[in-house]
Amino acid sequence: MEHNTLYVVGTPIGNMGDMSPRAVEALESVDFIAAEDTRVTVKLLNHFNIKKPMVSYFEHNKHDKGEKIIERILSGESCAVVTDAGMPCISDPGEDLIKQCEQAGIRTVVVPGPSAAISALAVSGLETGRFTFEGFLSVNKKSRSEHLESLRDERRTMIFYEAPHKLPNTLKDLYDNFGDRKLTIARELTKLHEEIIRTTTKDALRYIDEPLKGEIVLILEGKKEQSASSITPEEAVAYAKKLIENGMRPTDAAKEAAAMAGLKKNDIYRELL
Ligand code: SAM
Repeated sequence: MEHNTLYVVGTPIGNMGDMSPRAVEALESVDFIAAEDTRVTVKLLNHFNIKKPMVSYFEHNKHDKGEKIIERILSGESCAVVTDAGMPCISDPGEDLIKQCEQAGIRTVVVPGPSAAISALAVSGLETGRFTFEGFLSVNKKSRSEHLESLRDERRTMIFYEAPHKLPNTLKDLYDNFGDRKLTIARELTKLHEEIIRTTTKDALRYIDEPLKGEIVLILEGKKEQSASSITPEEAVAYAKKLIENGMRPTDAAKEAAAMAGLKKNDIYRELL
């Protein structure tokens, strides 16, 4: 491995068999490793019998630690940046470190490994030709709804990371924003309990009312060209009124009609009131 270099090293997302020989070689050869959580990475190092000094580099210390890492690399050392699982810098610390390397004129070398996003997309059964990676949805209500709204007309397949305990709430938000669409829930990829649930936003909301265990990626179908234009907002309101006449609660009727027309529930609900 070269001096004065940062190696961006992908590590398994669950199955140690996915660690590449080149990743092992990189971790063995660098002077030190910058790890998101050293307690996690030490297990990986032990598994491959690698002994190497580590520094912790995570979201809340990344600025100060980043500068120290840059100083060490400039003084002649080589460093490998890793995260708890998968590719560093993708919804993970590391992104800023690359920018700091660029500013300091430090060479960066990628040692690619598995990525949860791409692995989930590959098995999703949805269109893979064009896609967007959306990372985690914010827990802040305002930025979360702005993010979701900005995607309502997105035609490309969308990839989201999600924490298991937030899943029921997110399924509700997906249905409210996008209506009924194909959705794949990829859970515990490469692990013992790997599961690929190919479903729809509607069915997922109906059947998954408890947090699923483990790590999850959500793959959502993009908007179909037809869906919005085939049903006008007026038709959707008329449909909602029919549902109410048949005994459905206005809020549920608005939701169902909105989903059918690819509109927002509140747009229909306002008209009903
Ligand atoms: N940088 C990593 C990558 O791109 O592979 C992802 C790190 S991100 C902080 C963690 C998220 O990745 C989890 O919340 C989950 O959404 C996803 N993830 C990681 N490992 C996974 C696995 N084995 N199966 C499904 N999703 C996984």
